[in-house]
Amino acid sequence: MDDIKEGINEHEFLESQITLEQIRLLYGSLKFSLGASFSVAIIMYFMLRGHSDSATNLNIWIGAVFVIFLFRTIDALYFLSSPQESQEQPIWHLRFLTGALCGGILWGMLAWLGHSSKDEFQALIVMSVVGVCAGSLSSLAFSWRALVIFFTPATVLLAANLFLAESEFSKNTAVILAFFILFTLMSGKRIFNNTYQNIRLRIEADNREIALELMHQKQLLHSQQTPLAVIEFDLELDITDWNKAAETIFGYKKIEALGNNILKLIVPESSMKQVEELWDGVLKLKPVIGEAIENHTKDRSSIVCEWYITPLTKHDNNIVGIAAMALNITDKKHFEEELVSARDESDRANQAKSDFLSNMSHELRTPLNAILGFTQLLNTETTLDDKQKDYVNEINSAGQLQLELINQILDLARIEEGYLNLSIEKVSVDDVINECAKLISPLANQSKISLDFDCNPSNDDITQTQSDGTALQCSAVASVCNSNAYVKADYTRLKQVIINLLANAIKYNNVAGSVKITCSHKENNRLRINITDTGKGIPEELKDDIFKPFNRLGVGHTIEGTGIGLSISKQLIEKMGGNIGVDCSPETGSTFWIELDSCTVSDSVATDRNNLSPSDQQPMIDKGNGKDGIRILVAEDNPINQTLILNQLNSLGYEVDLVSNGNEALKLLDKEHYDLLLTDCNMPVMDGYELSREIRKKGNDQLSIIAITADAFPEREEECLKAGMNARITKPVDLDSLNSAINKQLN
Ligand code: ADP
Repeated sequence: MDDIKEGINEHEFLESQITLEQIRLLYGSLKFSLGASFSVAIIMYFMLRGHSDSATNLNIWIGAVFVIFLFRTIDALYFLSSPQESQEQPIWHLRFLTGALCGGILWGMLAWLGHSSKDEFQALIVMSVVGVCAGSLSSLAFSWRALVIFFTPATVLLAANLFLAESEFSKNTAVILAFFILFTLMSGKRIFNNTYQNIRLRIEADNREIALELMHQKQLLHSQQTPLAVIEFDLELDITDWNKAAETIFGYKKIEALGNNILKLIVPESSMKQVEELWDGVLKLKPVIGEAIENHTKDRSSIVCEWYITPLTKHDNNIVGIAAMALNITDKKHFEEELVSARDESDRANQAKSDFLSNMSHELRTPLNAILGFTQLLNTETTLDDKQKDYVNEINSAGQLQLELINQILDLARIEEGYLNLSIEKVSVDDVINECAKLISPLANQSKISLDFDCNPSNDDITQTQSDGTALQCSAVASVCNSNAYVKADYTRLKQVIINLLANAIKYNNVAGSVKITCSHKENNRLRINITDTGKGIPEELKDDIFKPFNRLGVGHTIEGTGIGLSISKQLIEKMGGNIGVDCSPETGSTFWIELDSCTVSDSVATDRNNLSPSDQQPMIDKGNGKDGIRILVAEDNPINQTLILNQLNSLGYEVDLVSNGNEALKLLDKEHYDLLLTDCNMPVMDGYELSREIRKKGNDQLSIIAITADAFPEREEECLKAGMNARITKPVDLDSLNSAINKQLN
């Protein structure tokens, strides 16, 4: 469409140029034609004087001739002295045509006003009019309209006069005149067509020349001002053009470069092979696009340029020259190299950080494994008195706190490094809240805080209450939620966040306070889970700070905590595509809320948590029942952990053999039959990974292998599976998870 419009505009512009040229030519030739016809008119006047029928009429005619001559002369002079913009106005065409019409009528009127009854004078009049008309062809044929407008009144008036005359001579002359008019008009039209064509061709040629000149100018400017070196050379590689940028980049002046071989001038030995290969391609008409080549400058310093080389070909595909452009990318290259080395450096630093975290986690978990493991075993002892049991519980809760801290620091580090992968699925709000209720209820009971759950996001306000109307105490919670609402989230991590918010709501509550969980639908298909407490609340100005790590708002050591929980929660929820926030009123407590995308029951991301195998759910410790004949081999180098695992497995009722490294384990496995191998990952002589690989290499696929590792990084799980292990449990190992993992494998 634009092309058509452009075409129409171009055509209109050309036509207007032709019209202007026609007007110019008409006015240009007017001086001569006016002079000639005025002279003929004067001669005719003197020849007819005394022979025409009416001297007065003849005088009127010559007077009119004089007036018209004067006006047309002034008009022509005025036009010729006008600037081009004024000449372009259409009024000039009209003025010229009016002048031509007056001229035509005047010459036609000669037959009437200068009429003579003598045939020889009438013949003279006819000759003069015909002569003027014929002469006008050369000056008026630039415009067909001007020619017709002059020609028609002149010849028609003359012919009419002759035709109406009574003499035979006049009538015959009129017939001849008619033929003359016809032929003159035909040749006038031909002359006009030729002239028009000439004008058109000339204007088109002029336009082309102007466009070419403009293009050439632009190219010249471009070549002079572009930061790209524009170089042309022939097939002998001799330089034929060299622009300003080429001078700047390579240091050679144009005069020094022209005629020189480009290879000798700017290509060092080290790049010769690369350039020769590219040159072979160019000769086969394959252009070079963005190839980085090392060059050297006049002072032999090394630079890197990005080259674009095009073979210039004729119609027959013969190369007539080569056009090349080069951009100096030396700085960019250096910058890229610095960037790569900075990235490598940062990767190394990150790796070091990960290694440090992994080691720290390992080192801290190993003693914790013993502390928590042995306290758990001690708890199972029946001989402990109440005081001793209290001490054991204290050690256990201090150990649990320590473990939580390690886990939180690891989480934070992993989120910041972007290593934490979530598994987003359709999560039942009922499932997750019911599980949180079970886990948090001991803490709530201990702190004498009542929990109130209203998970139904509709407006029905279905609150789970006891029959006596008081809010449900969750110590015996079976199912507090029955909302049938679903959200897109990572189940475990959502549970972690809600537990953290519930624990805070209990920790920072007032004595005998309460905590309430409610759900509500929000705009854009979001579901909000609110956790409201009756604590001291959070000052409005500190609302944003609480989500920053290690910010405890001056709580100090009065209430246990690390100040990391909310920061992790925020990042986890945001990774799930949700939002977390707090609404607070200092007098009545705070409401922490989480907003997530909700989904329907039919959404395909569904994961039915009820289908998990029994071992994935809360395990029940089955001490010693029916374990007869099941033999477990344990590979563990740390003596304390050896004692612990031995006692843990014995308390679960398993028959256990113990070795200190992979090598010993392999030897024993060759001689004895075992149903399960529990192996530490890091051991001297042969570690757990290698041990597993060796076992599988020997074709022993029946033996279940469980890794026990102090390294809590989830990616290690993959490493374990790759080595041929079946499962992994992380230290500190508690009896429940140990039992559950073993059951799962043996089943
Ligand atoms: P922690 O509880 O371990 O200190 P968090 O990141 O969970 O760390 O919380 C950060 C801080 O926010 C807390 O130290 C506390 O001052 C404040 N805070 C969190 N939850 C509540 C709440 N429900 N009521 C009052 N203050 C709270």
